[in-house]
Amino acid sequence: MFTHAELVDASKKHLWLPFTQMKDYDENPLIIESGDGVKVKDTEGKEYYDGFSSVWLNVHGHRKKELDEAIRNQLDKISHSTLLGMTNVPATELAERLVHITPKGLDRVFYSDSGATAVEIAIKMAFQYWRNIGVEGKDRFITMKNGYHGDTVGAVSVGSIDLFHQIYQPLLFESFKVSYPYVYRHPSGDAETCLKECLQELKETLEANHEVTAALIVEPMMQGAGGMIRMPEGFLSSVKRLCKEYNVLVIFDEVATGFGRTGKMFACEHEHVVPDILTAGKGITGGYLPIAVTLTSEQIYQAFYADYTEMKTFFHGHSYTGNQLGCAVALANLDLFDHEALVDKVSKKAEFLQNELNDLLNLNHVGDIRQLGFMVGIELVKDKKTKQPFSKEERLGYHVTLQMRKEGMLSRPMGDVLVFMPPLSSTEEELKAMVDIMKTSVWKITENNLS
Ligand SMILES: *Cc1c(COP(=O)(O)O)cnc(C)c1O
Repeated sequence: MFTHAELVDASKKHLWLPFTQMKDYDENPLIIESGDGVKVKDTEGKEYYDGFSSVWLNVHGHRKKELDEAIRNQLDKISHSTLLGMTNVPATELAERLVHITPKGLDRVFYSDSGATAVEIAIKMAFQYWRNIGVEGKDRFITMKNGYHGDTVGAVSVGSIDLFHQIYQPLLFESFKVSYPYVYRHPSGDAETCLKECLQELKETLEANHEVTAALIVEPMMQGAGGMIRMPEGFLSSVKRLCKEYNVLVIFDEVATGFGRTGKMFACEHEHVVPDILTAGKGITGGYLPIAVTLTSEQIYQAFYADYTEMKTFFHGHSYTGNQLGCAVALANLDLFDHEALVDKVSKKAEFLQNELNDLLNLNHVGDIRQLGFMVGIELVKDKKTKQPFSKEERLGYHVTLQMRKEGMLSRPMGDVLVFMPPLSSTEEELKAMVDIMKTSVWKITENNLS
């Protein structure tokens, strides 16, 4: 067994962490050793609230008895066998459960192992769908500015966050990018005006390009990594209606928003709309194991169903597709959603949370708070009146988050937008404690009241 010092040393010498400037890590190393409920503990014994659900994954807290047991039970049968040309027991049961809990019209489940792969699959399915039914030229995609769909090259091609994506431009296929309704940063500051303008832009893009467009991809209700930006009411349903009008498929990327995060099982339920393809991941296993899914309509599935020699097969798959341990824990996760009426509870506790968060608006540098369920972004600004941001060099969001770590809570900002994504099981007491840590940390850093 390594000591704490040996672990830190080894991590600095040999690890390369995702989305991390390793120079930052070297200055502030952190190694998690265990977790229990909504807290994790590092190798020095310090405890932290998991204020971002271990990057948007965790649902019932860590070491949830029922989930641990589901994996142990599955281990006694088998850990993994392939889904190429055959299936397994939990993957089959989970497919049926998923079709039941997703909006009506999504009848087929294709497994993979991360949000990015679920998106790759959605893109390739949409593309091949048109080929398979004999429609030529629908090869392109429409995406939203600041959209995020994962880090593989296809997913980055439909992504639009300059900080992450710009450098790879020469590697990517080009997508049409339309504005996402970001009310706080819209010149009018008015939801209705912002929504109308964005819909007009989408309509014009569809009008000009529908014949070459296979599908539109969007994060429903809440744009996550782009800065926790909440759509005004009516936008999502209008997007769906316009795409239908122009014969363009719709992909809802629910990797972040799915599984109760926004106070509905899936975010698209807020507007009663169903996509042609839906991707989900993150919370699907309660935050335990890497399973993701791409669900689609029977209509799309049927376009691939033919004699082998017609060459309509979907030639895509990953080694660990449909992994039994992952599917078993996903099934136990869904049982817990049922037994604990978790989605209703999140939606109720979200009102409590909103009240607690409101307090933050009294701070001089909190410009905007955007919330849907347990998905929250807090935008810090230099000047509240003019909405002027802090300079990038100041890295305010980063420093506030480091302060939060000192105060006993983990999260990760997007620029100067603080992220609050607590486990769905968090109690009101725990939510309050976490919001208090954010409040203290914002105050200490923005007012230079470090102690
Ligand atoms: C996190 C995320 C992804 C990527 O998921 P990974 O499992 O990290 O590959 C895709 N889409 C959205 C909306 C996400 O939030």
